[in-house]
Amino acid sequence: MDGARDPYGALVSELMLQQTQVSRVLEKFGAFMGRFPTVFDLAAASEEDVLAAWSGLGYYRRARLLHAAAKAVVERHGGVFPDDPDALRALPGVGRYTAGALASIVFGRRVPIVDGNVERVLLRLHGNDAPPKDKQTQDWAWARAAELVDGAGSPGVLNEGLMELGATVCTPSAPRCPACPLRGACAAFGQGRTDEIPRPKPRAKQKDWFVACFVVEDGDRVLVETRGAEGLWAGMVQPPSVEGAEPLALDAAARSAGVTPGREIDRFVHVTTHRRVLFVVASGSVGATGVMEGRRWVTRGALAGLALSNAHRRVFGVG
Ligand code: SF4
Repeated sequence: MDGARDPYGALVSELMLQQTQVSRVLEKFGAFMGRFPTVFDLAAASEEDVLAAWSGLGYYRRARLLHAAAKAVVERHGGVFPDDPDALRALPGVGRYTAGALASIVFGRRVPIVDGNVERVLLRLHGNDAPPKDKQTQDWAWARAAELVDGAGSPGVLNEGLMELGATVCTPSAPRCPACPLRGACAAFGQGRTDEIPRPKPRAKQKDWFVACFVVEDGDRVLVETRGAEGLWAGMVQPPSVEGAEPLALDAAARSAGVTPGREIDRFVHVTTHRRVLFVVASGSVGATGVMEGRRWVTRGALAGLALSNAHRRVFGVG
């Protein structure tokens, strides 16, 4: 957003973004800055004018706090924004997150930022399944973010990168792990637990999802395939499988998986954030056509090192 790199513009946009969608903020930000181009203009304005310029953004308390912050910058700091996070935090409407954003992104100070997106990325990177809303978990995330920022070449770039990753790639459901640059270092991805971390809130009703999968063996090798790049367990490894929203008959499922079914081995329910996944597992065998594109043989010993979800670990008997 134009002007967001000067501290005044950054404060205006941060406060606007707190409870309003980016698209709406984009519509209003330019006009607001046009009406109050500097912190002195905003500090000198009447509350009525400020609220009028804020109209359409809702939550007018933020406009009053922004107005008060502008006055405080003029009165306490002669109109020059401090770069010290504590001095920033002492301004009305500026909490730990906004102070961190201004200090690191605008002034390049080594200060962490943790919002919901950053916390989720950190929890997944470390395989930490603590409840995300707990104060202890949030303290942990701030401490971890501080360590990262201490080692970063550019604190602002690191903070923006973490926030952007959480907003666009490491999304709450169905993160796009195959496209993620941190995949190799991510414990949740490596352990197949991206759907369990952050720990989901208990939900009233989850949809049922049915999976039939086939353990096809050839000596000490098993046949695996890689899931698609979107959706549940994106990019992870599984045995030849068929899935859908309706219960599956084993024979029909085996036919569409290109497998000759053997005996049923297991039946279990795996609960994810959004679904109750009902697994039926059978042995199977394939002819040459069953080892189709996208499938490959791996040794049983190599399975533990693959990106398997917990459910698929159970299917393969991997601890
Ligand atoms: S690999 Fe997946 S879970 Fe891990 S940080 Fe990247 S997107 Fe998030």
